[in-house]
Amino acid sequence: YFVSFEGGDGVGKTTHVRLLGEFLHEATGREVVVTREPGGTGLGTELRRLVMHGDDMDPRTEALLYAADRAHHVATVVRPALERGAVVVTDRYLDSSVAYQAGGRELSEEEVEALSLWATDDLLPDVTVLLDLDPQVGAARLSGEPDRLERAGDEFHRRTRETFLRRAAADPRRWVVVDASAGLDDVQAQVRVDVAARLDL
Ligand code: C5P
Ligand code: MG
Repeated sequence: YFVSFEGGDGVGKTTHVRLLGEFLHEATGREVVVTREPGGTGLGTELRRLVMHGDDMDPRTEALLYAADRAHHVATVVRPALERGAVVVTDRYLDSSVAYQAGGRELSEEEVEALSLWATDDLLPDVTVLLDLDPQVGAARLSGEPDRLERAGDEFHRRTRETFLRRAAADPRRWVVVDASAGLDDVQAQVRVDVAARLDL
C-alpha cells in the first residue's frame, strides 16, 4: 500500500504519519517505510534546503525543484519499497505541489499535476489523508523561525487549503478528509478508522 498525508503547515502531519505507520505495521505485519517530501533522500535534503531557506525564486523554478525532489524520492525510495512488498507512508506527495505551486503560487493546476505525474511516472497513492485545519490555527501551532513558505501570507495559505479540499471532494475514492482541529489522539483514531476501511484491513 502507498499512503500519503497532505495538509497545511502545523496540522500535525509528521506525528500522524509516524503513528499511522506503527498501526499499519501491526495491522499488516509488513515492513513500513515512513518518509517525506521534500527531503526524503540525501539529494532531497539539499533540495529541501534550497526551496525552504534559499533565495527567492520564480514559481516555475520552485515547482521544478519540488518535482526533482519527488522524482528522486519515488525512484530511489518509494518504488523500491513498494516492489519489495513494503507499505509506504509519506508526509506530503504530489497533491502538495498542486496545492502550493498551483493553488498558492497560481501556476496552472493541470500543468503542475502533469509535471508531477511525469516526475513519478504516474505513481498515485492508494489513499491520501487530508488533515484539514484553518491555516491561522496551523500557523499558531508552529514553533521556531518560519521558513520561506510559511512566510507566504494568509491568502496564499487560504488558496492552498481550498485546493486540497477541492481535490479531495473531486476524488473521494482516493481521499479521506480528517478534521485536524481536535486533539492528537482523536485525530489519529479517526485517521486509523478511515485508512483501515479504505484499505480493507
Ligand atoms: O511539510 P513540511 O514542513 O516538511 O514542508 C516544507 C515546506 O515546504 C512547508 O513550508 C510547505 O508549505 C512547503 N511546500 C511547498 N510545496 C510543496 C511541498 C511543501 O511549498 N510541494
Ligand atoms: Mg512545515
